[in-house]
Amino acid sequence: MMYKRASKGASMDLKISTLITEKQIQDRVEELGKALTDKFKGKDLVAICILKGSFMFYSDLIRSIDTDLSCEFLGVSSYHGKTKSSGEVKTTLDLSAPVEDKHVLLIEDIVDTGLTMNYLQKNLQQRKPKSITTCSLLFKPAALKTEVKLDHIGFEIGDQFVVGYGLDYQNFYRNLPYIGQVENIN
Ligand code: 5GP
Repeated sequence: MMYKRASKGASMDLKISTLITEKQIQDRVEELGKALTDKFKGKDLVAICILKGSFMFYSDLIRSIDTDLSCEFLGVSSYHGKTKSSGEVKTTLDLSAPVEDKHVLLIEDIVDTGLTMNYLQKNLQQRKPKSITTCSLLFKPAALKTEVKLDHIGFEIGDQFVVGYGLDYQNFYRNLPYIGQVENIN
């Protein structure tokens, strides 16, 4: 399908085809929620949303985790509006409370080169949590450039640029309810 951005002055039309449907996402989120419930039931859990891309996945996923948890938000930026990772990760918003001695669940939208997840794991480790578990909705194995610990993955995809369900292109397209593959940018 062709999705036209409606904002004033918009100069780009992205050609987007559905890669993962809303229903496929919902089903997988439910499965991940069950696995995470089993892992964390009765434990002191802090679920960390990595902004901005994982906000939609995060809000669905935490609703399918059936145990007490507290919510934290951590902002990082590595793409700077482009479609290839800059390799330089910048913190744009820090946690509001310490995570020392707590079980931490890092919730990401996508692992591409792995540089962001690698940075996040090192950063979080310094705060002395009881454990760090990672969960990413998407993973591009062919693009991986560094070692990362990925405990839970929603879907493996090819080395292609995707938008929707929180993922953006120049801060647009996040509100698509599905994951779309962009056909006409690289
Ligand atoms: P990495 O550091 O693993 O290369 O990239 C992680 C971040 O880059 C993700 O959190 C996400 O914001 C962005 N990213 C990576 N691949 C894509 C993609 O295909 N589409 C979009 N919209 N963002 C991506």
